[in-house]
This record gives sequence, C-alpha cells and structure tokens, in this order.
Amino acid sequence: MKQAIRAARIFDGEREITGEPVVVVADGKIVSTDPAGLPVIDLGDVTLLPGLVDSHVHLAFDPFGVATDQTDPDDVVLARIRANALEALQAGITTVRDLGDRGYLTLQASDAGPEVLVSGPPVTTTGGHCWFLGGEADGLDGVRAAVTERVERGVDVVKIMATGGSITPGSSPFDQQYTTEELRAAVEIAHAAGIPVTVHAHASTGIKAAVDAGVDSIEHAFFLAPGGLAVDWDTVDTLVRKEIYVSTTTARRPTAEPATPVSLTLRENFGRMRERGVRLVCSSDAGIGPFKRFDSLPHGVIEFGELLGFSTADALASATSVAARACGIGDRKGRIAPGHDADLLAVAGNPLQDLSALLDVRAVFRNGERVV
Ligand SMILES: [Zn+2]
Repeated sequence: MKQAIRAARIFDGEREITGEPVVVVADGKIVSTDPAGLPVIDLGDVTLLPGLVDSHVHLAFDPFGVATDQTDPDDVVLARIRANALEALQAGITTVRDLGDRGYLTLQASDAGPEVLVSGPPVTTTGGHCWFLGGEADGLDGVRAAVTERVERGVDVVKIMATGGSITPGSSPFDQQYTTEELRAAVEIAHAAGIPVTVHAHASTGIKAAVDAGVDSIEHAFFLAPGGLAVDWDTVDTLVRKEIYVSTTTARRPTAEPATPVSLTLRENFGRMRERGVRLVCSSDAGIGPFKRFDSLPHGVIEFGELLGFSTADALASATSVAARACGIGDRKGRIAPGHDADLLAVAGNPLQDLSALLDVRAVFRNGERVV
C-alpha cells in the first residue's frame, strides 16, 4: 500500500526541507515515487522528522523501582518491557537500544512497538557493575565465551562494563574492570559477527582502555574522578581520530532539583568535546531512576541546544541520523530518505527554530503505519 504524507516542513535527519514537502511510503519504507495520484495524509503545520533513536535504555527496569532487586518473575518483567517500550513510542522514539536486561528477556519483545535493539545482560566481572543481571565473565577466556554466547543468542550489540558503576553496591565508577586486551578480545569476536561493541566507562582509565581496544562507542564517558571530573583530552583526541561515538546518557525529564556544579561541568565538557569533533549521541539511560522515564530523550535534545552549544539541526541529528549510525543502523534509520524505514515523527511548529517543539507530538509512524 502506497501513500503520501505531507507536512509544512521536514527535518530529514541532517537538514531542513521547506515548502510543504511530501514523503511517499510503500510497504513500510520511504520510496522515491512521484506522489501524484496517491492518497495523501496532510498533517498541516507540523515538522516531520525521522523517528527518534534512543541508543541507551533499560526496558526491563522500573524507573521507580530498585534495579538491583531482580526478584520479579519473567512474565512481570516482560510486561514491564512492553509498557516501557510503548512509553518511548508515544514520545516519537521509534528505535530503542536496550543495553542491559536479565536473561535476554528483551529479545522476546521485538514486536513491542518501537524497533528494539538488544544487548542482553551486560558483560561484567564477578561482583562487578550490574552483576545482578547475570552477565559475569572473568579473564580473556571468560570474556570470549560471554561474547560468543551473545552472538549465538542473536543480540544486536555487545555491552561490556569497562569500569564499575554507582548503582551497584560494592562497585566503584573509578575502578577499571577489564584490561585493554580483554576489551579487544570482545571487539574481535563481535566484529567478526558484524555486531558493534559499546562500553560502559565512567573513569579515565576505562575510557582509555576502551578507546585503545577499538570499540564502536562509549556510554557515559564522564571522566569521573574522585571529587569531580578530570577529562583526559589526549584520549578524547584519539577517540575523535578513531571515529568512536560517545553516548552521553544525559537526557532526563526536567527536575525541580537545582543543577550541581558537577552536572554543569559535565555539560561544559561535552560542549568542548563537540568542538573537538567528538560524535556525541544524545541518549537517556532510561529506567535507572524517576527522572529517567522512557520518554526522556527529547529533553536531552533540547539540552544539547541549550547547554552544549549544538545548533538546532545538530541537536536533532544527535538523536536521529548520528544516533542511528552509532548503533550501526544508519542505512535504514535516522533519515527521511528513500530506502529507509518509514519511522516518522510529526511535531507541532518548527523544532529547528525552537527545540521544545519536540515535546508537542502530533503523529508517530512506525514502518509506515500511524501509531500515534
Ligand atoms: Zn545504562
């Protein structure tokens, strides 16, 4: 079934197209067919964008619950995964990449609404960050076996914890969990299977090890140090040269809490990284707390414009075309272009003038079908 969708303007993932452009959709894809004679959905004074891509979520988590408590039965977790995925879709997030569940449950929710990319349980050391999700693996042989298992399970991405994290008791974000060699072993096996590797890293040592190992992206990359932040700009420059993406995980719903000096410095640092050429991806880490609901991503895009010095177009790209490329799906997501999936978001007004327009969702299409 072929149809045309008309909007006042389009942001195609990279730039604005004005003059009431029309997008033709056939069999779930965007096609370059002449729209003449086709049924038209006229959306009026809206901007049509590629559906948003949130490259870091935890669908299995309850934002109001306790992540370390993994006692819920599988059917309860699966129902939560589906509900959380739908919350994302309502906000125009048509692709989510899940970077940590228990028992690969998210693989059972590929029909939940948005496209769901899955890592399964993150690879971590015994007792290490998020060990409670079941992904413990130690040493070179342990890491190789864990990554091989994930490839055989059919994951879309391998997630590995290079440093500890703050939500796991007994784990410290300053501690490195894996050596460069161990991370490199993960990269070799995953890349041989055509799967990207993304690495959780807070402190400088873990970030540097991940960069040296040639991973595809780094989650957080805050350069946390005792008492604050300490960016290693040499590592940042290497990361730029190696074309490694940084997924900021900064998107969150607005909060009444005042910003802390560290959180402001963090955003300043990301702004400086942008100036140095880092490919920054706007992502949320949805699920890990009350302000990390599954519709948080648009708020992060607005912040990229307000606090990180992004132009509106670049901010929008950070959650569409750039995010899709970071996830290895840039050939079919994140652009409004022929051959791409017809995952579309229509918002009132023009987010290229005011990014907060992203919060006024008027329509969402997934594989060409209107779902909102
Ligand atoms: Zn996470």
